Amino acid sequence: MALVNTKEMFKKAYEGGYSIGAFNISDLEQLQGVLEACKERNSAVIIQASKSAISYAGIDTLVEMVKAASEEIGVDCALHLDHGPNFEMAKKCIDAGFTSVMIDGSHLDYEENVAITKQVVEYAHTKNVTVEAELGVLAGTEDDVTSDVHKYTEPDQAVDFVNRTGVDSLAIAIGTSHGAFKFKGEAKLRFDILEEIQTKLPNYPIVLHGASAVDQDAVATCNQFGGDIAGAKGVPVEMLRKASEMAVCKINMDTDLRLAMTAAIRKFMAENPKEFDPRKYLGAGRDAIKNVVLGKIDTVLGSKDSL
Ligand SMILES: [Zn+2]
Repeated sequence: MALVNTKEMFKKAYEGGYSIGAFNISDLEQLQGVLEACKERNSAVIIQASKSAISYAGIDTLVEMVKAASEEIGVDCALHLDHGPNFEMAKKCIDAGFTSVMIDGSHLDYEENVAITKQVVEYAHTKNVTVEAELGVLAGTEDDVTSDVHKYTEPDQAVDFVNRTGVDSLAIAIGTSHGAFKFKGEAKLRFDILEEIQTKLPNYPIVLHGASAVDQDAVATCNQFGGDIAGAKGVPVEMLRKASEMAVCKINMDTDLRLAMTAAIRKFMAENPKEFDPRKYLGAGRDAIKNVVLGKIDTVLGSKDSL
């Protein structure tokens, strides 16, 4: 078992009409929960960490932990930097052993986004590391970047961007958003934009960020056991499944795992007031993560037996 880049998994996913799940982790229990589910379904997977997760866990600790868990549980996986803010951070992750990085220049001017992405691609490819970039702006909050409005990706610009940067995959904005509060009214994704990009960039892997379904049962459980999470709303599962069958090869889901883990720990604590062994409540959190990921593989991604 080893850490792999995303090249082969995206090629197979595109041809097979499914997506690879990309799950954010910052601790052992989240990592084990994700990998155990993927082992059970024989599914390819991307483990990803943002800048804040890296500063929480420590970059070398994170890399060694992912390598060791991949080996021990028996699942090949990619280790990916989520929302790399600059070249230095991307380089640091590549040098530390990440097999894939995102450089997020989506908030920059177009030409600056092209330049920074190209710089990361040139370095990453010398180390056999794949690169994801982003074009268009998603609403919501990711790490310390917040945007109030969507700026949908323009298909012609996406073609120009991919050709000029040589980037391996592209995250686009078609209406998904970061966090637990994705839609004020009806959920709506711009499948017309995805379709146009797919036509203009055949066989090219597209990435969807901010694609948690925001399970209402998990929200209800959090609130039943002392939480206060109001009006959370995610992307309907059918829409994500449809995107997976199209050019989308990677779907990022973070909120759903956070909600499931929090709900399980809150419930465990409330029902076991005498318990103070962290393995008991963190173990309940780990089981919850595993269950969510099993559900994602079955209903959203379609990635069973992709390893
Ligand atoms: Zn994101």
